[in-house]
Amino acid sequence: MLKKHKNRPLTEFPKEFLDSEVIVKKTSYEYNVLKPLLFEMIDSMAGVAITKQTRVLIKPNLLLPARPERAILTHPLVVKAVAEYVKNKGGDVLISDSPAWGSFEKILKIGGYHKALEGLDVELKEFKTSIPVDIGKPFGSIELAKDPFEADVVINLAKLKTHSQMLLTLGVKNLFGCVIGLKKPEWHLRSGVDRDLFAGLLAQIYQTILPSITIVDGILALEGQGPGKGGTPRYLGLLIGSKNAFTADMAICRLLGLNPDRLPTHRSGKRLGLVKDAIDVVGDADPINHFAFPLLGSLAFGPKPFQGLIRKHLVQRPAVNDRICRACGDCLQFCPAKAIAPDGKSISFDYDRCIRCYCCIEICPHGAIRSAETLPGMLVRRFFTENRSH
Ligand code: SF4
Ligand code: SF4
Repeated sequence: MLKKHKNRPLTEFPKEFLDSEVIVKKTSYEYNVLKPLLFEMIDSMAGVAITKQTRVLIKPNLLLPARPERAILTHPLVVKAVAEYVKNKGGDVLISDSPAWGSFEKILKIGGYHKALEGLDVELKEFKTSIPVDIGKPFGSIELAKDPFEADVVINLAKLKTHSQMLLTLGVKNLFGCVIGLKKPEWHLRSGVDRDLFAGLLAQIYQTILPSITIVDGILALEGQGPGKGGTPRYLGLLIGSKNAFTADMAICRLLGLNPDRLPTHRSGKRLGLVKDAIDVVGDADPINHFAFPLLGSLAFGPKPFQGLIRKHLVQRPAVNDRICRACGDCLQFCPAKAIAPDGKSISFDYDRCIRCYCCIEICPHGAIRSAETLPGMLVRRFFTENRSH
């Protein structure tokens, strides 16, 4: 049954979430196929408890202005089918997110949402107002969008994408969109190079908002240097759903041939007791071969006094392709560490300051930034990889 799980104390993660199964469906964006399949999926995950005037918040991934074929945003037809499901039950629909970059209106237009949702009585609105919410230690009270806490039901509609900082962005990380606007880079800066701390923040935001269900759009996924325009779309034809986003994310890792323990948000979920190792997967998807993940080396290693030096010379880092960069200045403005400066017709990085959050990769509207290994870093990695394999 879909019902509201409102800002509950962190110890009360519902048992039905821990025990929830994962549904994996093979499909396409062909609407006649997609819609009944999504309806069936939601029914089997959550029952039919949306009734007249239930206020339902649909939270897609609306990161930045991008066309559906770039595979950066939750596909508009997935959003449409879920909105239709809610409307058919008599509920009121609000579709909302806080983009990392670019105007919400432009995202709706370029992303095809206005067109897809034409004629449906739904509200499309950017998260604008925050409220303080206690998400638990060590973060305490943080500012989160008010709307998820005013809705009766939250439906989390994520995208299956790689992420240069967090390896993948799936169901759990999608709720970071409830941190509004420039608070996002602030949190990157506060977490610094501690990727597990940032993953803990994401896990606790998810746990606090606790959407009733999570569906991940992996029909056209993004591999390589995601989650922005540096990534490469790849057709997988998959929809993955569960009550528990941690469970859905774990199933996706396994489908992609990745040990879930390599996913920082999964490790945090395990630490918090929000996911079990044994999960039931319903569906018939085949394993995905050769999915291209970004390289994700440790950001802080070696003796403490040398960690800054090691990070500067051995850890992979953002690099710009001068031929693609249009010197628009967006990355300069967004960089939480102020580690980017204009450099003629392109930009340059201050790697002493850079915390490797890869927000610049995420928001560059032209896909001009990649994460790149340094030569010494590559030699060290190869040395250890080769020695491990013997
Ligand atoms: S790297 Fe991208 S965001 Fe930064 S200035 Fe160049 S085009 Fe703009
Ligand atoms: S340069 Fe890029 S990766 Fe480094 S801190 Fe700035 S946004 Fe993050």
